[in-house]
Amino acid sequence: DKIIIAIDGYSSSGKSTMARKLAKTIGYRYIDSGAMYRAVTLYAMRHGIIRPDGSVDAESLVDSLPSINIDFRVDDNGQQTMLNGEIVENEIRTLEVSNHVSPVAAIPAVRHSLVRMQREMGHTKGIVMDGRDIGTVVFPDAEMKVFCNATPERRAERRFKELTAKGTSVTYEDVLANVMERDHIDMTREESPLRCAEDAVALDNSAMSIDEQNDWLLNLYNS
Ligand code: C5P
Repeated sequence: DKIIIAIDGYSSSGKSTMARKLAKTIGYRYIDSGAMYRAVTLYAMRHGIIRPDGSVDAESLVDSLPSINIDFRVDDNGQQTMLNGEIVENEIRTLEVSNHVSPVAAIPAVRHSLVRMQREMGHTKGIVMDGRDIGTVVFPDAEMKVFCNATPERRAERRFKELTAKGTSVTYEDVLANVMERDHIDMTREESPLRCAEDAVALDNSAMSIDEQNDWLLNLYNS
């Protein structure tokens, strides 16, 4: 029988890489819940809902929620995040979106709206979903739960490599600052803060290669 697999953890802890790979290997659907928070953030940036000082006009954003439609489409380039019918996969991965996403994700009504969509996407089971609150809030009954961590320096290094490989000009220091800032906001927000579910298996992958990590996850699934 198909199950729900929840992969949570800190920013850039390698969650999406291993979640995507496991989904592919076992024929499940992969859902990146962080992409949904990023898409809402992109919408807010484009509609002047993020103030020049970086704070979020929560009231306008909540009013706009009914007009924010998020979906995923799979094509030859893999999974593409869609915002109101437009592919925004590249736009949501910029450091600018990363810098604004955690305050957006701290707004309770934003979370309620996305959690509802995530539960709908999971109603058929056979999914691997990664995020911050998948095992604690979205699918507390998920049959398999993993919680990932690595040192902030390792995580920033990975994200830095990813961004520079795409041609984005960033400094390692800025990426490290963003990773630590997001962790802080994600852990201290009032609505479903980032934490490890009691029944999750914890993984510190600081010293693991991508292959080792993928093998570890597949072994856990098979065990
Ligand atoms: O996973 P990713 O780093 O792309 O997520 C971006 C941000 O979205 C996180 O830093 C967090 O603030 C928010 N998020 C969340 N809950 C999730 C997934 C992501 O709050 N389930």
